[in-house]
Amino acid sequence: MFEHLHGLPADPILNLMVQYRQDNNPLKVDLGVGVYKDEQGQTPIMQAVHAAETHLLASETTKTYIGPAGSEGFCFQISRLLLGNDHAVIKDQRITVAQTPGGCGALRVAAEFLAKCDPDTTVWVSDPTWANHIPLLKGANLTITEYPYYDGENKAIRFDAMMSALETAKSGDVVLLHGCCHNPSGADLNHEQWNSIAELVVRKGLIPFVDIAYQGLGDGLVEDTYGARLLADKAPEMLIASSCSKNFGLYRDRTGAVMVISANQTQASVSASNLFSIIRGIYSMPPAHGAAIVETILGNEALTKQWDDELTMMRERILQLRHQLAKEIAACGTEQSFAFIPEQKGMFSFLGIDKAQVAQLKDEYSIYMVDSSRISIAGLSSSNIQYVAQSLSAVLKG
Ligand code: PMP
Repeated sequence: MFEHLHGLPADPILNLMVQYRQDNNPLKVDLGVGVYKDEQGQTPIMQAVHAAETHLLASETTKTYIGPAGSEGFCFQISRLLLGNDHAVIKDQRITVAQTPGGCGALRVAAEFLAKCDPDTTVWVSDPTWANHIPLLKGANLTITEYPYYDGENKAIRFDAMMSALETAKSGDVVLLHGCCHNPSGADLNHEQWNSIAELVVRKGLIPFVDIAYQGLGDGLVEDTYGARLLADKAPEMLIASSCSKNFGLYRDRTGAVMVISANQTQASVSASNLFSIIRGIYSMPPAHGAAIVETILGNEALTKQWDDELTMMRERILQLRHQLAKEIAACGTEQSFAFIPEQKGMFSFLGIDKAQVAQLKDEYSIYMVDSSRISIAGLSSSNIQYVAQSLSAVLKG
């Protein structure tokens, strides 16, 4: 039976991680994997997370099942962190929230939910989008189509082309939007652009689906939710996938949430029953630990403040690295401008170099990034940023 299978190529990022690990060059730099790293190149456990874990260890009394929706307290907290305490969809009980195994779990459950609503659903994704969006959506046999998003030549959003493409979408089509810190481009929509999208989505009867995996790592915890909150204000139906992997540093604890906003309370209870039944059929119920940490932090004012301060420090450090990288590259006298890097948001930007140049950086300088030239900004530090800038400049000068 197993002989019917064909071997598949290794995931490019995981492959890159292996190559990086095996590289003996002491100057090696990993700009591939999208995790936050501190000045020492570590991905630390946040202090607030540590404190919450200590509290949980002392106070937890059971490991019994938690049910398909996960913890009610977590769902309460995470939906308020995203939409605000008083959002109408919460007050009107139009929202269903389920704790999921990470943002990927949320995306996968949402995809199955859409397929259950209509197996012929088309989902519009940005060109480019996060590579894993495609298998997560295709796993539910949804049809995927692209709208133009990032113009690598001009380092800008192709907003007019994006809107023209979405004008051709048909009622009931789903539009997947990155809530903030667009992965892979780092190019985020401004308020005016979000406003136009909201108008289009409502006018054409499209379903917005916001994936927000970096809340707090762009402009701020509230600022980063502008698009999600606006769409929740305006659209009768909507989906949200949120992740606590980056902003709580809970990567391996698999913590996230899927939110389904329905047109009214009666529909919401039908949506909820379907959502929970889908979850039951995939993984039955989510792991508890990560969400218990988030719930503990967000349910305690002092811990929330501690976490917010740590997150602010991470956000500011990423921004400072962005400025410094552009400055160091300019100091090398490179012809091309990299002034766009500090304008972009979150963990990623494209350097805008070709595959051969990416390979040269890896082979000759031990600087690792994915073929598209997307770099993870947090892989930089004051000890390697000049080396990266100089190596890049040498490669660009040929
Ligand atoms: N969406 C996007 C755009 C992401 O970049 C990520 C993390 N790389 C996720 C969702 C979900 O990540 P996780 O499953 O680790 O929470």
